[in-house]
Amino acid sequence: MFKVSKKLNTLPPYLFLEIDKAKRKARQEGRDIIDLGIGDPDQPTPSHIIEALYKAAQDPATHRYALDQGMLVLRQAIADWYKNRFNVALNPDTEILPLIGSKEGIAHFPLAFLNEGDYSLVPDPCYPPYKGGTILAGGRPYLMALRESNGFLPDLDKIPRTILKKAKLLFINYPNNPTAAVVEKDFYKKVVNFAKKHKLIVISDLAYSEMSYEGFRPPSFLEVEGAKDVAVEFHSLSKTYNMTGWRLGWACGNSDLVNALAKVKSNIDSGIFSAVQLAGVAALTGPQEHIKNMCKLYQERRDVLISGLNSLGWQVSKPKATFYVWIKVPDKKYNSLKFAALLLEKLDIVVTPGVGFGRYGEGYLRMALTVSTERIKEAIGRLKKL
Ligand SMILES: *Cc1c(COP(=O)(O)O)cnc(C)c1O
Repeated sequence: MFKVSKKLNTLPPYLFLEIDKAKRKARQEGRDIIDLGIGDPDQPTPSHIIEALYKAAQDPATHRYALDQGMLVLRQAIADWYKNRFNVALNPDTEILPLIGSKEGIAHFPLAFLNEGDYSLVPDPCYPPYKGGTILAGGRPYLMALRESNGFLPDLDKIPRTILKKAKLLFINYPNNPTAAVVEKDFYKKVVNFAKKHKLIVISDLAYSEMSYEGFRPPSFLEVEGAKDVAVEFHSLSKTYNMTGWRLGWACGNSDLVNALAKVKSNIDSGIFSAVQLAGVAALTGPQEHIKNMCKLYQERRDVLISGLNSLGWQVSKPKATFYVWIKVPDKKYNSLKFAALLLEKLDIVVTPGVGFGRYGEGYLRMALTVSTERIKEAIGRLKKL
């Protein structure tokens, strides 16, 4: 038979396979599944963005290959948005690169900088492409444990010197998926100093900057002095504008880093459908009220879920951002996979086992606030029977 590459064999196993299978089977049997497993907004894309797509798609100029570096009008809209939101100035010609969703850029970025055997410093638990992209580029992930006792921040001082010598990339992601942890700028200042001292490239994933509660405004890594010397930041329209299926995001920051990623991509893809880029311009420059409504909706769901879980004696704290709730497995007899399987088998509730995000996610479950308040109440009712 075919022998896959060593790299492919080294990728972490896909641990959700069993749960996915069981979920499909349960659906086929007509069971009423409450799916708290998916980090994908359930609300539609705002209509003015859809209209911009219709209109743009009718212009034959959008039907041809798009330029690799993205349309200037989109890069300018991104620059204006960053200036307005974070007071960070970006040059649209050299410091911004639109992407086919930010996952694509995150996964390809290590190809630009890692040589065989180089290390990436990767938080664990984490969004899977940090590890996957590193391994596919021939690098090795060094796992920085995110522990509750440290506010789910990596302990940079614990990284061994021998690893630091061979490390080139440092991934950070706040507001965090899956732990929902947030940071203030003082953490970013520490990271800038650390990166300069050890000659690291910082990759900041800011996908959840607009999804926050009670007035908390997540900062950008690029707000910190000196950050642009060492960092590229990834951003996405997916969560902010309910556009996960559209595939539109961007990389921004240090021009050498942005350029290197553009060079990798010029060998792999041929740009983003121009009509989608123009819809992205409509998203970034059009009315923004829906973001407030979105946060209000997730906040309501969050409060119903947390107070419901607390009433069952589960100890869960309220996330300040993201649409995730990171929960300790309430019964020590179970690991996260077993407990998730139990919830599906007995209660028709899907949650994501923490170990799926890495070994330090073991002992936790992730619930996503992507179902209605009624369904969350129904889920709490079912959990009472456990
Ligand atoms: C959802 C998400 C993204 C966004 O990915 P896209 O490819 O832009 O849809 C990026 N990072 C994290 C941590 C996410 O959870």
